[in-house]
Amino acid sequence: MYAGDSSRRGVRSLKQLVALDRDWVPQAPGASLYIRPAMIATEAAVGLHPANEYLFFIICCPVGAYYAEGFKPTKIYVEDQYVRATAGGVGEAKTGGNYAASLKAFAEAKAKGCTQVLWLDATEHKYVEEVGTSNIFFVINGELITPPLGGTILPGITRDTVLKVAADWGIKANERRISMDEIIAAAADGSLTEAFGTGTAAVIAPVGEFLYQERSIVIGGGKTGPIAQRFFDGIQQMQRGILPDTHGWLVRTI
Ligand SMILES: *Cc1c(COP(=O)(O)O)cnc(C)c1O
Repeated sequence: MYAGDSSRRGVRSLKQLVALDRDWVPQAPGASLYIRPAMIATEAAVGLHPANEYLFFIICCPVGAYYAEGFKPTKIYVEDQYVRATAGGVGEAKTGGNYAASLKAFAEAKAKGCTQVLWLDATEHKYVEEVGTSNIFFVINGELITPPLGGTILPGITRDTVLKVAADWGIKANERRISMDEIIAAAADGSLTEAFGTGTAAVIAPVGEFLYQERSIVIGGGKTGPIAQRFFDGIQQMQRGILPDTHGWLVRTI
């Protein structure tokens, strides 16, 4: 979240809020208490400079299971015109401006029957970056591939979790650039068997189809693959204490 002391203070306030709101933690299967820390500048000033006053606040609300109608693969629009973030910019931060820049592409993707946008690199419009609010993984020849962190994508906690759990499970994971050409070729020769997004709310979001330059690329027959399913089940079982927490990820609030 933030560096050093302010980060520790942020986590402490978060624990206090969850302890206070403990009766709001829903018990229904798959439901959770969604926690969203946020910060805005509040200094009354018109000039352009880093603000001297900020408000840190945490939104906390019970939410139902993310996949109320079951675990359904999504259709994703591959955006090859607009870009989300460029090298040297603020793409790796969860800051409002990054999402403002994405809304038009998102609306156009929706109009084409897609639920999300897959962003490509801003220079060549060739290499995969990430999805609107999640990082992206591909399974090629049984190995995981995800684009490397390089300043233009969000270093998602769920991405990191999948990489660590993959190592625990003996699944090889590669952080490397992957182009749309490679994805098209690997989907055609059958070596690309799965694709899925990773993010806090959904945990794992399987992709059944990419729409790229008016062309449909179906992944894994449009069905959820075994690796995506295993991560989805396994990570949630770790979150709920059903599988052991071998990384010390669970935090007690009371
Ligand atoms: C939130 C988000 C992610 C996923 O991050 P998590 O920490 O796993 O929730 C990935 N990419 C973008 C652009 C995001 O906004």
